[in-house]
Amino acid sequence: MDRLHLLLVGIDGLRLDLATEDRAPHLHGLIARGELTRMTMPAPTISGPGWATLLTGASHAEHGVVDNTFVGSRLAAIPDLLSRAFFADPARTTFAAAAWPPLVDPAGVGPVIHTRDEQRRAERHRVVVRDGETYGYRTTDAEIADFAVAGLFAAGPDASFVYWSGVDEAGHVHGAVGAEYAAAITRTDAHLGRLLQVVEHRASAGERWLVAVTTDHGHLDGGGHGGAEPEVVASFVARAAWNAPLAGWPAAIDPTELTPRLLAALG
Ligand SMILES: [Zn+2]
Repeated sequence: MDRLHLLLVGIDGLRLDLATEDRAPHLHGLIARGELTRMTMPAPTISGPGWATLLTGASHAEHGVVDNTFVGSRLAAIPDLLSRAFFADPARTTFAAAAWPPLVDPAGVGPVIHTRDEQRRAERHRVVVRDGETYGYRTTDAEIADFAVAGLFAAGPDASFVYWSGVDEAGHVHGAVGAEYAAAITRTDAHLGRLLQVVEHRASAGERWLVAVTTDHGHLDGGGHGGAEPEVVASFVARAAWNAPLAGWPAAIDPTELTPRLLAALG
């Protein structure tokens, strides 16, 4: 049987309680097809430590990332989800696309996703980097979506991570309660919808796919995160599968469980 393909989508700073069905129809379609699991992020609820935990399974104390400078990071010794998928089976191809450079940029701080230069040269690991911090996420998220659609459509990588940060950006600039945050959710949900269309297309040819969507923290109503308020620590994993059974997960898991559970699903 064809091996399982994994797509993990990261939507930075997404409050699920504000991602209502009318604002995020594709995310809700994924949940309706599959399962929703809750997670509670540990403080400080900052993107660097949050994604470092979600993408490696290491706790804050273990990976040493305390903020977005990555000073003190021990990530060089802690392989990420995609690297571990490759190490478990070197026949696997991987793909990562993000406009927040610390996650993927080989030239930047981090990156959380190991660069694996040999595999990149061999086109076994593809990385797409944009700089949303400089150029804004509205533009760069759309570019990431374009590249991810093309990358998934053409190559059908075995394990992928695609990340968008326009929702977080809107939360910081405008707060979470308002039209701008809602519009950013809808724009990002449309990006997700395009990826799900690619998955549908590839699955219609018989491929087996698991798609998961998660976030690293929420936002205060007025915008901002970092603390331990309920609306800020609330995270989730939405999962659905195509041509494959979906393992039942508990109603809530710890953020350190995400990577090992996804790797277990890959087999
Ligand atoms: Zn974040």
